[in-house]
Amino acid sequence: MSATDEIKNYYLSLGIKESVYDFCEATEQALLPRFQEIDRIAEQNQIKVISAMQKAGFSESHLNGTTGYGYNDRGREAVEEIYAHVFHTEDALVRQQITCGTHALSIALSANLRPGDEILSPVGKVYDTLEGVIGIRESKGSLAEFGITFRKVDLLPDGSFDYDNIKKNINEKTKLIEIQRSKGYDVRPTLSVEQIGELIAFVKSIKPDVICMVDNCYGEFVETIEPSDVGADMVVGSLIKNPGGGLAPIGGYICGKKEYIENCAYRLTTPGLGKEVGASLNATRPIAQGLFLAPTVTAAALKGAIFAANVYERLHFKSVPNATEPRYDIIQAVEFGKPEYIQAFCEGIQAAAPVDSFVTPIPWDMPGYDSQVIMAAGAFVSGASIELSADAPMKEPYAVYFQGGLTYPHAKFGIMMSLEKMVEKGLVVC
Ligand SMILES: *Cc1c(COP(=O)(O)O)cnc(C)c1O
Repeated sequence: MSATDEIKNYYLSLGIKESVYDFCEATEQALLPRFQEIDRIAEQNQIKVISAMQKAGFSESHLNGTTGYGYNDRGREAVEEIYAHVFHTEDALVRQQITCGTHALSIALSANLRPGDEILSPVGKVYDTLEGVIGIRESKGSLAEFGITFRKVDLLPDGSFDYDNIKKNINEKTKLIEIQRSKGYDVRPTLSVEQIGELIAFVKSIKPDVICMVDNCYGEFVETIEPSDVGADMVVGSLIKNPGGGLAPIGGYICGKKEYIENCAYRLTTPGLGKEVGASLNATRPIAQGLFLAPTVTAAALKGAIFAANVYERLHFKSVPNATEPRYDIIQAVEFGKPEYIQAFCEGIQAAAPVDSFVTPIPWDMPGYDSQVIMAAGAFVSGASIELSADAPMKEPYAVYFQGGLTYPHAKFGIMMSLEKMVEKGLVVC
């Protein structure tokens, strides 16, 4: 028996129908040249990370954490130096005390804004949870309560920047520009780093001293450059997404200009103490090793996303990004239009998980979101969306957002199972 037949029989024994397997296999074959390009990007990023570790003199002694106040935590300081090298920034704040991506973004904003200042998003709606942080959705302790205002300018219908309106909305109060790289829970294109660079250059030509902050969630290592390479003053993200490589158990990062990072440290801990405190406990090793794995893990997730887009587009569902366009983040949206499809999709992803494969995902009222959300995840790190996961707000257009996969074979298996569930329920014929 050939190796191909052996794998096929194995999938069939796990309950995948032959027609589903053959369909997925044919889809994958056509993608191999593209996968090769992704491997080249991963290779370059891998070397970038190793070089950063070498430049920081990273050593075995750095892997031992501290307790208590965490003064002189050499491992923590080395990791922050490594992040600064990777993102080519003056400084970095990389901490397990940053509880999630929203927290990192909230720190970056509240640390650098003062009453009377205004935020402008030139790329439309901000990520759902940031609406609470900013006070677009009324929320206790929001920036709005502290007299900080917000404006947004939507992208034009073709996805490009509305430069006229961006210019009109920059005023004497505008202190910070918030640019979200990834589409988040929105059906709009994700921005390339190059596009972000053009936007930053435009904004700075109008107001040179404005702080350009990029919400970099899901974008890290997808390209060989990062927004901080094209003028961003701060880049912000979560360690349970791309840069944690699946190993970081918690945390967030903010990389950028020294002055802004210092402000962030004072906000995260306290004025006066800043970066000096914050014990790393046992987190330095997984955070550093996760960063080391992040380029290839991101590549695996990217291949999974492209595979999903191609499978579902061949079945005539709308994929965003579509089957062939370039990728700037690891998120794949597929519009199914009806709740039963997203239910089946999530059941399939769950059924392929290494952890909690036996549970059935159901919609729930997730804190920070304005509609119910259904999620499929069977992760080693709770809620880590660099691990194979899918989530969908239970509202029109009933789009599933699929992301992650620490390995490509896992992502492929998950998508195959999602299709299998749809076929079993009679929602799709293949
Ligand atoms: C995930 C995400 C966030 C928030 O991160 P959490 O860790 O879920 O709080 C913010 N912005 C974007 C674009 C994201 O994808």
